Amino acid sequence: AAKAAGRGCHAFFEPSMHSEATDRQRLENDLRGAVERNDLHVVFQPIVRAASENVCGFEALVRWDHPARGAISPEKFISVAEECGLIGKIGEFVLDRSVEQAKLWPENVRVAVNLSPIQFNDPRIVDIVANTLERHKLRADRLELEITEGVFLAESEETDDTFARLKELGVRLALDDFGTGYSSLGYLKTAPFDKIKIDQSFVKGLRETGDRNHAIVRAIVTLAESLGMDTTAEGIETHDTLEAIRALGVSQVQGFIFGKPLPAEEAERVAHRQIAVPEGHAANREKRH
Ligand code: C2E
Ligand code: MG
Ligand code: MG
Ligand code: MG
Repeated sequence: AAKAAGRGCHAFFEPSMHSEATDRQRLENDLRGAVERNDLHVVFQPIVRAASENVCGFEALVRWDHPARGAISPEKFISVAEECGLIGKIGEFVLDRSVEQAKLWPENVRVAVNLSPIQFNDPRIVDIVANTLERHKLRADRLELEITEGVFLAESEETDDTFARLKELGVRLALDDFGTGYSSLGYLKTAPFDKIKIDQSFVKGLRETGDRNHAIVRAIVTLAESLGMDTTAEGIETHDTLEAIRALGVSQVQGFIFGKPLPAEEAERVAHRQIAVPEGHAANREKRH
C-alpha cells in the first residue's frame, strides 16, 4: 500500500520493504563500483543460419560477476542501470567491446548489440555508434543493433530521425523480443528494421503443427518476409524445436542447442571455424572469467 502511495512515502514502511529498498540500493552501489572498476564483461552467443548451420553472427551479452553474490542476470541489473543513469556507460562499454571483437572475425560474421531504449533516445547515440565503428575501423553493416518495442513508448520526433540516421550510417537494425512488448504493428510501417527476432516465449515448446505458438511464429515469418526482413528465432534448445522452426522458414536461429554465450576468445575460434558448436561440447557450458 505504501508503495502505491508513491516514492518517499514512509507511512506504512514495513520491514520487508525496508530490506527490499536497501537491497536495491546496495545493488545500485555495487553496480556503480563495478562499472568504475571495469568489472563487467561481454560474452558472445552464436547466431546460425537455419539452412546451413553456419555461424553468421554473435549476440553480445553483458555479464556481471558480483564478488559476493555471483553472476547477476542482466535482466536484473540492466533495469537498475536504466533507473540510476548507468546504462549509457555500460552500453558504450558493451558496444566498444563488441565492435573491437567483431574486427577479429571473418568479414561475413556480424555482431549484434542490445540497445536499451534509454540509449536509443540519447541524442548522442548516432555519434557514439559512428565513433565506435570509426575507432575500430569496422564496416557499419557488420554491426546490428537490437532494439525492443520499448523504444516506441517514448516515441518522439527524434525517434524517426535516429532511425534514419542509423540507417544512413549503414548499421543493421533488429527488432528484439518481438511480440512481447506493447506491440503495435504501426511502427513496422516506418521503422527501417532489417530483422525481426522472434521471442523465446513463442519458440519454447513449439510443436510441429497445430499449436498456437506455431501459428504465431508462422504469421511473424510471413509478415517479416512480406516486409523484406530477416527473422531470427531465439531460445532454441532442442532438435524438435529446431526442425519445427526450420520448416517454418525462419532464416536464422539462436539458442543453447548451438551454444551458450562464449567468452571472447572462444567466440573468435568459433567465428573462424564458422561451424556451430555441437550440442554437449565442452564449449557449450558458459564459462566465467
Ligand atoms: P535478449 O536480448 O533477448 O537476449 C537473449 C537472452 O536469451 C540472453 O539472456 C541469452 O543468454 C538467452 N538465451 C539464448 N539462447 C537461449 C536458450 O536456448 N534458452 C534460454 N533459456 N535462454 C537463451 P541474457 O544474457 O541473460 O540476457 C537477458 C536480457 O538482458 C537480454 O535479452 C537483453 O534484453 C538484456 N541484455 C543482455 N545484455 C545486454 C546489453 O549489453 N545491453 C542491454 N541493453 N541489454 C542487455
Ligand atoms: Mg537481444
Ligand atoms: Mg531477445
Ligand atoms: Mg529478451
